[in-house]
Amino acid sequence: MPENVPEPTSTAAGPLDGVALEGTAGEITVAEGAALDRAAPEGAALDRAAEWRDDPDTITRLRADPGTGVLVVRERRVPLGDGLILVPAGDPVLERTREWALLGRRPDGTGLLLALQDPEDDTDADGSWAPRWADLREALPVVAAADAEIIVAAIALAGWLRDAGYCPACGHAAPLRQSGWSRHCESCNREHFPRTDPAVIVAVQSSDGERLLLGANAQWKGRFYSCFAGFVEAGESLETTVHRELFEEAGVRVRDLAYFSSQPWPFPRSLMVGFHATVVDEDAAHGDGEEIVDVRWLTRTEIGSALAGDGPVGLPGAASIAHRLIVDWYRR
Ligand SMILES: [Zn+2]
Repeated sequence: MPENVPEPTSTAAGPLDGVALEGTAGEITVAEGAALDRAAPEGAALDRAAEWRDDPDTITRLRADPGTGVLVVRERRVPLGDGLILVPAGDPVLERTREWALLGRRPDGTGLLLALQDPEDDTDADGSWAPRWADLREALPVVAAADAEIIVAAIALAGWLRDAGYCPACGHAAPLRQSGWSRHCESCNREHFPRTDPAVIVAVQSSDGERLLLGANAQWKGRFYSCFAGFVEAGESLETTVHRELFEEAGVRVRDLAYFSSQPWPFPRSLMVGFHATVVDEDAAHGDGEEIVDVRWLTRTEIGSALAGDGPVGLPGAASIAHRLIVDWYRR
């Protein structure tokens, strides 16, 4: 979502993205959802080498090792050639790097660094390096799954490296520590870390388990229906958020919450946490009239048709977490 969009409150998940938290509609595509999903549903492929972070010489050591691969990030974009481009440490294009961070360790034991650069120009000074600069939307569908995970981590961390240079408590500069994974305020001595904003996304079934409740968001202005989603507010548990969101958006109470899966969503720093739930008062279901303009109980047959691309209702993009929630329910 754009950095200047106010903190989202809630909404049903998006049609094309599977997860359109308020202010994000249309920004995330099917392909992105798929690639984000590929980025680690079954566990991480990226070795983050956490034990290297505490060594204050790690960045210096890896920058001096020509075997180190460096991912340059400029304004939430990464360089693509035939695939993701990693620049060897020591390459002249890295001279203008503003911040460095450790991304991890590659299978051969060499390091992987993030180089955050300013976006002013997209070509190197002498014009010798002119990759295609791709945002998540463009990059994720065309790179290998392991690279997709690296890109998601790098863009999420790069946003924090760029935006969080000053202590939120006292305003003093807060230099990086832990190889780019924390900041320490030299004035008030506080430690700061990259934050992730959790959001819930919920598939609600009927009491008999034969129908699924989906909502149509006002932003979509069309035939798309999806699961209900919303950000966790200050002081809430995930479970509390599920109950609040479902009551606010769809007017229903739910029971039997069951965790399903999660998905990183670095727009700029969200994490979608998926749940299944069963309704308590299904006749109470109605949209809130603002964000959710309509809710529908769809039968298993109707969901099956929609998943096949038939019928009057469109569903979230393939392999988004919303899509996976719906398919998981459908196959029960
Ligand atoms: Zn401070």
